[in-house]
Parts: sequence; C-alpha cells; structure tokens
Amino acid sequence: MTNADDMLAVAASRAARLAAPGLSPMPRRKVAVLACMDTRIDLFPMLGIERGDAHVIRNAGGLVTDDAIRSLSVSQRQLGTEEIVVVMHDGCGLHGASEDQFAQALAADGVQPTWRLGAFDDVEATLRRGLARLRSSPELPARDHIRGFIFDPETGALREVRVPAVGGRIVLATDR
Ligand SMILES: [Zn+2]
Repeated sequence: MTNADDMLAVAASRAARLAAPGLSPMPRRKVAVLACMDTRIDLFPMLGIERGDAHVIRNAGGLVTDDAIRSLSVSQRQLGTEEIVVVMHDGCGLHGASEDQFAQALAADGVQPTWRLGAFDDVEATLRRGLARLRSSPELPARDHIRGFIFDPETGALREVRVPAVGGRIVLATDR
C-alpha cells in the first residue's frame, strides 16, 4: 500500500473532523507564513496558529522565490492578509548544498530549469535578503509588517533576524 492510499483512507475516516462548514478562506489573523518544507518544522504549534488563521506557503528553504511572491501576492490582494512571517531554520538541506552539482544532475537528465536550487552558505544573510526582497516587492501591497525567524530543530528555539534599517532605507551589508 502506498502512502497515498493510507492518506485517502485516513481522510475518509476523519471527514467530520476535517469539515469546515462556513469557515472563511480569508485568514482570520490576516497573516501569511512562508517556511521551509523541512519535516521538523511544525508550524501550527510553533507559531500558535490554528486552521483558518493563516496562509502557509512552504518550499525548499523557505526562500523568497518568484512563486512564493506569487502566493503571497494572492494572499494579500485576494484574501486580505497584511502581515508576513518567514521561517527558515538551522540544518537546512540547502545550507552548503552545491548549486553546480544539482544543475549537473538535472542537465544529465536533459533539463535546464529556469529556477535555481537556492543553495546558501549563511542562513541569516539569506533570510535578510529574502526579507529585503519582500519589502521591495510592489506585488505586495502590505509591506509594513514583514518579519523573519530562524528555527533550531535541536533546541526548539525560534530566533528573529532583523534587517537593519537606516533612515527608512534597508541596508544590506551582506548583499553582494
Ligand atoms: Zn530547510
């Protein structure tokens, strides 16, 4: 039996619990969370959110990609969110990964994607760059409340990474 079969059976057995009759698709707390897909990050208890509270967008790394911005843009423009929280983490699979090796493996299968793996060497600098990109993305009408956190799966601690702002301008000391 595959996972998909198990999952379908579980969902069928819990339909009454899963039903959300009348629950609005507009996130109750007007917040969208962008996070790494890492299995160790349990966002709902970590952030104290429940079903109906927030949009949750996950990808490899919790990176601010074009597609993450697409989802966040829909979240804000169509569904009323006004705040963004980005969650990256220590021990990410993209930390120290090889962009070149990944590209070579794809090329060996005849693929030259338009996207990059998104490997990074410094999780805090990468998060700061992502936050800066969000804050300068006109796709997002609400950019006053954008914060970034890093989770340590070993200790359970969640720490904030702040982008230094000087005179209203964002300074990116770590940017190339
Ligand atoms: Zn990760």
